[in-house]
Amino acid sequence: MPDPYRVWLSEIMLQQTTVATVGAYFARFTERWPTVEDLAAADDAVVLGEWAGLGYYARARNLLKCARAVVARGEFPQTCEDLQSLPGIGPYTAAAIAAIAFDEQATVVDGNVERVVSRLFAIDTPLPSAKGQIREAARTLTPPVRAGCFAQAMMDLGATVCKSRKPLCDICPLSANCAAHAQGIAETLPVKAKKKAKPTRLGHVYVLRHTNDAVLVETRPQTGLLGGMTGFPGSDWAQDLPPFDPPVDADWRQTGTIRHTFTHFHLLLTVHMATAPKGFRPRNARFLPKSAFDPEALPTLMRKVWAATKEGIHA
Ligand code: SF4
Repeated sequence: MPDPYRVWLSEIMLQQTTVATVGAYFARFTERWPTVEDLAAADDAVVLGEWAGLGYYARARNLLKCARAVVARGEFPQTCEDLQSLPGIGPYTAAAIAAIAFDEQATVVDGNVERVVSRLFAIDTPLPSAKGQIREAARTLTPPVRAGCFAQAMMDLGATVCKSRKPLCDICPLSANCAAHAQGIAETLPVKAKKKAKPTRLGHVYVLRHTNDAVLVETRPQTGLLGGMTGFPGSDWAQDLPPFDPPVDADWRQTGTIRHTFTHFHLLLTVHMATAPKGFRPRNARFLPKSAFDPEALPTLMRKVWAATKEGIHA
């Protein structure tokens, strides 16, 4: 059976991130931390640094919590129900691990499976209301053995054959049993409820350089967006642009504006840069020497900020 550690790690990485992006991260993580015990013993900052670029940092923090919980109990729980007691493991991930690593008859429903099943059964209730109906329909298809192989086959079918646009029904092994294909409505399913437009929040971010090229950084609060990550100091993010209130009076100049999209809002940050005045001692922040400052280890948003100080990028 596949190694539950690897199944779990790949499933957490794949939440909201594409296979193409995850590949290199997965290879690096499993080389550096080949077992759940290795990962559990790793330094938080090192793991968060390796995670940089995958986004949704709460996942990385839960990854560590989960690895430590598994080590504390001695092994991965083996049922879909027990797996959900671990941090960061919801119903989908639990079902995927239970089916793939432990051969439980668990029904795994991701976006690809949702599409295939809604078409096989011609379910035209809009998502997300249709989720329960789709899950129940998928449950009726899940075989008692090799449920993990079945789940992966359904996901692959959704990704490569039953595509959102122009599904390849002519070569689909399920076409003879597909209600949407029979009715000629495959491409219209699943029906999605109209999304609300995302609001935009505004803010300032301050990049302060020391005369010796060190850069002022802070560790963000553990809770909230980018929690526990390293970043540049800045204002709150609000609907109306907060006042310009840098960490110190200095030769501040605006070097750019960057745009970033989180799950629930767009963020437009005005980037300011200055050289620290002599004798400035930061509070709740620290100067990172040039030799220790690696922009690649920053979260994506902060990498954009750093790029804007170099290139004067405007969103
Ligand atoms: Fe999807 Fe077409 Fe196959 Fe139905 S027949 S499952 S719509 S690819």
